Amino acid sequence: MRRGRFQFQIYSDLVLHVVPGFKDNYFYLLENTETHEAAVIDPGEAAAILELITSKNLELTHMILTHHHADHVGGVEQLHHKWPGAMLVCSPWFKAKQSWNEFSLTRMVPAQQFYLWKHTMRVLDVRGHTIDHIALSLSEKKSSPPSDVFVGDSLFGAGCGGLFEGSHSQMLEALKTLRKLPENIRIWCAHEYTLKNLRVAIMLQENNSAQKERLQRLEKFIEKEQVEPHDWVTIPLNMKEERATNPFLRWDEPSLQKAIDTHDDLTTFTHVRTFRDRF
Ligand SMILES: [Zn+2]
Repeated sequence: MRRGRFQFQIYSDLVLHVVPGFKDNYFYLLENTETHEAAVIDPGEAAAILELITSKNLELTHMILTHHHADHVGGVEQLHHKWPGAMLVCSPWFKAKQSWNEFSLTRMVPAQQFYLWKHTMRVLDVRGHTIDHIALSLSEKKSSPPSDVFVGDSLFGAGCGGLFEGSHSQMLEALKTLRKLPENIRIWCAHEYTLKNLRVAIMLQENNSAQKERLQRLEKFIEKEQVEPHDWVTIPLNMKEERATNPFLRWDEPSLQKAIDTHDDLTTFTHVRTFRDRF
């Protein structure tokens, strides 16, 4: 679908609003349709989020931040000013701006779970892109498997976040954590990079037919609709498809290791990351 605001019914009482921002970012707003409360994930800018919350007459109760980059937190101050009671959830290592001195942050350690109204969110350690990065998985009930995961800049369609602060081995651990999630989980990432990532992935010459088909399918849409690659929405990503086609989740695949001429997982991952960084 073409880039634009859209909504997705997650559970009977929970709607996810996807709000495009900047050139290729996605911001997320979860709406509790029973209590008329809202939770925002990575509000990179406030205007569109403010407009959505007020037009629906919602009360913002949570702001959840995956990491400290400006395009993920730029709207926090304005939203905090309007809803000072909203809980600000971030990682233990989160680097808050100086101007946030008086804000009370709820620092959640990995594996910690918290209630999002009737549902449960769980914190995942995905440090690598930055050294304060977390992802959040969402389950309908505390005991049920996660249906959705908000990954920020740790994982993208056919890609992963660049290493601004962390090491290759740290990022590989982060991706191992994500790859363990259920195959049918919906993945909500923070940027639309899928087409470019796939084009670069193909150049690794793994000879991966699922990857080739995914690229062809996507290129067909882009050509037909005549849109820029980042203007074609590919979320939610699907873990099964990512495992099959995302070279950053295939560090231990013999076919990819063969193309790179190694038997080592970290060497494979490092090669793929370094290769992607050239484009
Ligand atoms: Zn980032």
